[in-house]
Amino acid sequence: MGVSVDGALVDALLKSAVRAEPAPQEPEQAPKPQVRKGSKSVADWANEARMQARAALSLDALAEAIRNFDGSPLKASCEQAVVYDGVPGASLMVIGEGPGAEEDRRGLPFVGKAGQLLDKMLAAIGRSRAENAFITNVNYWRPPGNRNPEADELAVCRPFVDRMIELAQPKLIIAAGGVPAVSLLASKDGIMKLRGNEYAYATPDGFKVPVIPILHPAYLLRRPQDKSRAWRDLLLIEKRLSELA
Ligand code: URA
Repeated sequence: MGVSVDGALVDALLKSAVRAEPAPQEPEQAPKPQVRKGSKSVADWANEARMQARAALSLDALAEAIRNFDGSPLKASCEQAVVYDGVPGASLMVIGEGPGAEEDRRGLPFVGKAGQLLDKMLAAIGRSRAENAFITNVNYWRPPGNRNPEADELAVCRPFVDRMIELAQPKLIIAAGGVPAVSLLASKDGIMKLRGNEYAYATPDGFKVPVIPILHPAYLLRRPQDKSRAWRDLLLIEKRLSELA
């Protein structure tokens, strides 16, 4: 089942995801103005992203295409694109929401406080970005003030996300948090309902992979009482990974 991106629907879905799992706020300098180059629409940019993504025959080529892509209005207000980290070809892929301040500075996903907790969560099931996990996001450019990415911003990244899944060939995807879960699955449900369940995902070009949403580690830092839920979800992920090996 391929999932197409409907901007208005995803916007509405994301709002409910945000209610269920509010984003952390970091101190912020005045945001730089957001600009979209030229007069292209979101659909034009998404088409261009699709063409560039399909033309990329390796993860390196895809990362280069993402860095050169001018279709996200967020590009002008951040330091750099944050594309992926970890082991290409690992059976486990983690997809988060998008870079925060630390990720923007260092150019790597999940390297701030939430990332440190994610690393511990992965270690609990024998996974690490150094050995057997691949980590990326549904949005590659840091939104000002760490707000959630908007539907248009996600729509122009989506062809790259799908191509990354096809090139990395994971056996299982963890959607870390409400934003990637709702956006990937085009679900009307929020993260509290989605988490801990397995969903079938297929890219528009037909690569099929199961997705299990979990609570975002930044949320768990604010609500440690929910860590038992995350632990249950990790045990399911470990079990499914051994079955899919
Ligand atoms: N949160 C995310 O969802 N992704 C990152 O890369 C960092 C924090």
